[in-house]
Amino acid sequence: MDQKHIRNFSIIAHIDHGKSTLADRILEITETVEQREMKEQLLDSMDLERERGITIKLNAVQLKYTALNGENYIFHLIDTPGHVDFTYEVSRSLAACEGAVLVVDAAQGIEAQTLANVYLALDNELEIVPVINKIDLPSAQPDVVRQEIEDVIGLEAEDCPLISAKNGLNIRDVLEAVVERVPAPNGDINAPLQALVFDSLYDAYRGVVAFVRVKEGNIRVGDKIRFMATGAEYEVLEVGIRNPKEVKKDMLECGEVGWLCASIKSIRDVRVGDTITSAARPAQNPLVGYREMNPMVYCGLYPIDSAKYNDLRDALEKLQLNDASLQFEAETSQALGFGFRCGFLGLLHMDVVQERIEREYHIDLIATAPSVVYHVYTTDGNMQHIENPSMMPEVQKIDHIEEPFVRASIMTPNEYVGAIMELCQRKRGNYKDMIYIDANRMNVVYELPLGEIVFDFFDKLKSCTKGYASFDYELIGYQTNKLSKMDILLNGEIVDALSAIVHRDFAYPRGRAICEKLKKLIPKQQFEIPIQAAINGKIIARADIKSLRKNVLAKCYGGDISRKKKLLEKQKEGKKRMKAVGSVEVPQEAFMAVLSMD
Ligand code: GDP
Ligand code: MG
Repeated sequence: MDQKHIRNFSIIAHIDHGKSTLADRILEITETVEQREMKEQLLDSMDLERERGITIKLNAVQLKYTALNGENYIFHLIDTPGHVDFTYEVSRSLAACEGAVLVVDAAQGIEAQTLANVYLALDNELEIVPVINKIDLPSAQPDVVRQEIEDVIGLEAEDCPLISAKNGLNIRDVLEAVVERVPAPNGDINAPLQALVFDSLYDAYRGVVAFVRVKEGNIRVGDKIRFMATGAEYEVLEVGIRNPKEVKKDMLECGEVGWLCASIKSIRDVRVGDTITSAARPAQNPLVGYREMNPMVYCGLYPIDSAKYNDLRDALEKLQLNDASLQFEAETSQALGFGFRCGFLGLLHMDVVQERIEREYHIDLIATAPSVVYHVYTTDGNMQHIENPSMMPEVQKIDHIEEPFVRASIMTPNEYVGAIMELCQRKRGNYKDMIYIDANRMNVVYELPLGEIVFDFFDKLKSCTKGYASFDYELIGYQTNKLSKMDILLNGEIVDALSAIVHRDFAYPRGRAICEKLKKLIPKQQFEIPIQAAINGKIIARADIKSLRKNVLAKCYGGDISRKKKLLEKQKEGKKRMKAVGSVEVPQEAFMAVLSMD
């Protein structure tokens, strides 16, 4: 097909504004998916996505659309996640497109990730097509939202489509706007091949499947290709598109989005963001890849069954294949044995990776509390990146410690501004700015330590604003602070996996809170267990777990056997997620205890 009739676009929005629902309607109206195969949020194919109702992995589909002008078009629609943790995925999708449909909820208006996504789209020089969704809601205010789009984002929104993705109202307006406003691709079909790898996955039979956007030239089955970053060369065995089922083709043409297989067994050869070119007639330069994202949050992941260590490495490697922002390296913990220190973009990302490992790879995990990366300056003039509190140098050798700070924008209805400021203050934030979005809503800007955000900032923000505030942040740099490592001792022994870095002004209450919390979480055992918090060897808090007074089975003696069985069953249940740390059995929740305290 002539490139003039191709449109490549993404749908971007704040979470829950209706991207996936709109994608569903578009699949229906273009008859890409037959009615009987249609299920809600069809592109969210991972179980986890369906359960949580969020989009995690992007997905690209090809659709055919006959426009009102009578011409036939091919659309490549790339669905994107909207959560702040998955910005990386969004920027990858956008690099493969010429346009973005921006969905804004008619009742909620512009929110934090609406803006964040708009900036990403502008960075990629995309044409943005605003769409106001959920106009069926009684609380919808399309005119107010239209004005917001013009004032806050600066986009022309006078005749932007007003739709209900849920009811299928005015969906055609969106497609017409795409035809009219999104530029067609303009690659040179005769130029040497340049194709951007924007995603990949591993298939047990075919090896790596790479998702590509052909920017220049084309790819045919049988071609010899080269990955420009790694230099690896392969012969193309299959190419195709998804609609969303896989459809094989003979070639992918200039301007198209599709997939290819080349019997690639080494997952390291295929880097997301790399450019594929022809081995026989290579391009001079690779395409501009996209911004590498550095992990913001780290935690240790340990298999509960230590025999699964290698399986865990495999699982992490496979997940990393299409999630370049996931990082990991081997680490050992005295308490937990062999495992991996893993880096994530944020807490939701961390959660999703853990859950995928448990579900898709069947490995039960112990995860340690998340930590940010500290810059530790030692007296010899060096600086170390410390992402695992237990690796902190000896206190005598430390000159000072810096922690990462973020600039947070919190968009909220006016009435919650007071509560938000109180929360930010408690989280060691510095007030920066307050901007009116419209008469009823504000954007409150704070600088906050990232270390406080990974604690329970999201939950607290949600509860103090009844869920009405939205939140976005970006790293702005490092600041020196009074920080110390706090150790936790169980039965007199330091448990490295429980160490945390705390601000000294908050150390006492935090130490006390964590001891109390652990006391509740660690079950009683045959002996008394002291729990202590210590800074630089000095005990700052303590709580004791009393020993079990008598054998729990004793009271069943002479009693009914089934009751005894039940009791044992119950004990076993409780044991599932335990790890023996020295002589103490510690449940998974205990390692996360530092996260939720107050
Ligand atoms: P995403 O996070 O942007 O992908 O949002 P989803 O498509 O998953 O939609 C979030 C929620 O909004 C779901 O419960 C949808 O059913 C609902 N929703 C989406 N579009 C509409 C709409 O036009 N009207 C109404 N009332 N609800 C909608
Ligand atoms: Mg979605």
